[in-house]
Amino acid sequence: MNRCNICPNHCSFDGNSICQQTPIYDSEDAIYTTAVAIDPIEKKPLYHFLPGTFTLSIGTLGCNLKCLNCQNHTIAQPEQSILVPTTTYTPEDIVNQAIENNLESISWTYNEPTIHPKWIISTAKVAKEYDIKTIVVSNGYTSEETLADLVKYVDAVNIDIKSMSNDFYRDICSGLVDPVLNSVKYYVKHDVHVELTNLLIPGYNDTTEDMRNIINFVGNTSKDIPLHFTRFYPNFKLMDVEATPERTISKACDLAQYLGIKYVYPGNVSPSYKDNTYCKHCRHVLVERNGYDIKSYVTSQCACPNCSHKADIIIK
Ligand code: SF4
Repeated sequence: MNRCNICPNHCSFDGNSICQQTPIYDSEDAIYTTAVAIDPIEKKPLYHFLPGTFTLSIGTLGCNLKCLNCQNHTIAQPEQSILVPTTTYTPEDIVNQAIENNLESISWTYNEPTIHPKWIISTAKVAKEYDIKTIVVSNGYTSEETLADLVKYVDAVNIDIKSMSNDFYRDICSGLVDPVLNSVKYYVKHDVHVELTNLLIPGYNDTTEDMRNIINFVGNTSKDIPLHFTRFYPNFKLMDVEATPERTISKACDLAQYLGIKYVYPGNVSPSYKDNTYCKHCRHVLVERNGYDIKSYVTSQCACPNCSHKADIIIK
């Protein structure tokens, strides 16, 4: 039986694929978008890749996980994706929008972009000609076959590690954790810029042990990977769960720093000094933020202006 190898679900081509996408929309030339916006790159969130710039955000259709808290469920989890209104673009149309708006990057975001690797790659090929970077905001639920194709064209990723627990992935997302961790390691190994996000949901994945498990995974992969702990708000099928208290996010950030992670950030909370990027050697401020606004930033890609150590920030 023919099976799809784009993600670890390996659906059969019998018209009932989990993402409701492949092979329906399987074309390199026509990209079916549901959302196009210009966002601060910090909103992805990416804090160490072209800080202070704006990115062309593209949302398409569908997802290969079924998260009960999906914040983009109208495009990622529609009852019938074929009925969602879309606008059709070519890769050239998308790149032209980035050029017209003087944008340095294109971000595939909102729904799960890696279920359409051809769209990402065909657009990235055109974008590369204009030195426009390709960013993927992903759940990391991607097969090695797809990762092998993507790493040749993707410059930066933010991957959402929802939990280190298979029970959580099975019960809340209808997936497994190992493919996600494998994707993180694959991108890191192939020198793609990686940042990680963990959404803390009260009563589901917010214990100290949950936090410690994620932090240990990040630390064992690389202590220099920026880690974002973000706040949950009631959504989709988890409307009866309270928003995450800000103190929980603060606790996770403090624990990660205590356990040696060099760059840790709170997300979806009130702006604070914790949004800044500090030199991992001397704690000099490299990027000063107020929410998504950049107040000042290091101008040298390689060095902290105070102690001259590597700054771990990619600036064009
Ligand atoms: S991308 Fe994943 S969910 Fe979609 S059809 Fe292929 S294997 Fe199934």
